[in-house]
Amino acid sequence: MFDIVKGHEHIKRFFKNAYKNNKLHTTYLFKGREGIGKRLFAKVVAAMILCENKGNSPCGFCKHCLKIKNMIENPDTDNPHLDLIEIKPMEGKNEITVDDIETILTTTNFPPYEGKARIFIIDNCHLMNKTSANMVLKTLEEPPENTYFFLITSKPDALLPTIVSRCQQVYFNPKGLEKYIDIPGFSREEIKALINSGSGYIQSQDDIEELKREREIALFILESIFNKSSFIEIEKEIQPQIEKNTREDNSRLFFIIYTFLRDILAVKSESENLINRDFKEKIEEISAKTSPDFIFELFEIIKKTQTGLYFNLKPIQLISLIITEGRRVKL
Ligand SMILES: [Zn+2]
Repeated sequence: MFDIVKGHEHIKRFFKNAYKNNKLHTTYLFKGREGIGKRLFAKVVAAMILCENKGNSPCGFCKHCLKIKNMIENPDTDNPHLDLIEIKPMEGKNEITVDDIETILTTTNFPPYEGKARIFIIDNCHLMNKTSANMVLKTLEEPPENTYFFLITSKPDALLPTIVSRCQQVYFNPKGLEKYIDIPGFSREEIKALINSGSGYIQSQDDIEELKREREIALFILESIFNKSSFIEIEKEIQPQIEKNTREDNSRLFFIIYTFLRDILAVKSESENLINRDFKEKIEEISAKTSPDFIFELFEIIKKTQTGLYFNLKPIQLISLIITEGRRVKL
């Protein structure tokens, strides 16, 4: 079943060996960029732990593997594996509260329901609020028998150091992922550039189209700092897309803006090595109008503004702020 996850071969080897030699830790922290396959990986490791046929890979056909496969394919299934529990913020909420982690507290005193172990996946674990983080920490300090925790985050810096120190850390990086992706009409180089532009994993023409749209918007936001378009025009252009984005999509949008800033600096220093090579002309146009100092200022402005995403400010307000602040500093 490990082939469900594309790439990350060394991490697969690491887990297969750890399992074969009975050296699995109880708590792992999976860190790395959004969309790179961390959560999927955790589910496959969960299948390995629960699988009836102990090998160094989940068999894929016992009742545990089949149930987990179904959970992977149908995230909203009403027949989930009862010992694989995913914890994430409630719909529309920006934090993981004590209510969300209640299952950890209530179930760990009892044996697993269906299998020989119980596995918790805490997705976006950096969103745990102080109380829930401390309660999880307590559990991690004295882990219940046959219980495993996979904490997943793209923002490890936002975690309590006491939690991080309890975890075995595993870093997922996008290097080499392009080898596993075949999309008609796109070269390996182009796919690699797209992955590096912040997409995480892409596997279809649709993903590429959507990513392209997001990159156009990121570029449009940067261009707006340098031209005189009105905020009504700007909003009209970007609102429809941003409106339907999830918070994760929007933080990806910010990441993509960073890659364009990085490319503008690259052009400034006459490097040919651009992440967004397909937008080269426009990047050169902006680059001609600006100085490296200003680009560094923009990095700072965007970084500061981005934290607003986590305080429920509307993305469109944050983007207006970036453009206003950028225009002001440029003067
Ligand atoms: Zn199995």
